Amino acid sequence: MSIPCPRCGARLERVPRSNAERLIYRKVLSCGSCGYRTAVRRVPFESLTKFVFSPHTHCIQCGNARVRRMPRRDPIDRLSAHPISVLLGLTFAPLYHCNPCRLQYHDWRKVDPAYRPAPRPAQPVED
Ligand SMILES: [Zn+2]
Ligand SMILES: [Zn+2]
Repeated sequence: MSIPCPRCGARLERVPRSNAERLIYRKVLSCGSCGYRTAVRRVPFESLTKFVFSPHTHCIQCGNARVRRMPRRDPIDRLSAHPISVLLGLTFAPLYHCNPCRLQYHDWRKVDPAYRPAPRPAQPVED
């Protein structure tokens, strides 16, 4: 997806962000021909909001709902240091694993049924 420059119509390119910009913006775009600059703001705590207000569990880092319940802690993948996960861990909440993040976190909620691994297709019932 390329966004045309509103000033001259050339293609806007992503440019590296400074440390301060990294905190505020998701990406910074710049026009190679006229120097126009624009930025896409981060939605603050976007995935955290999703995490907190969902009836089902989501990855605490990316908001992914396709997570897996872990029978025990995986020694290789990281465990979230997020205060909510740490607190829930102290209450012995179950452990979940997010594949894209390779992150484990604690949550009392269950996986959204829509994202549970599909059960084997049922045999057609004959009558
Ligand atoms: Zn331009
Ligand atoms: Zn994730």
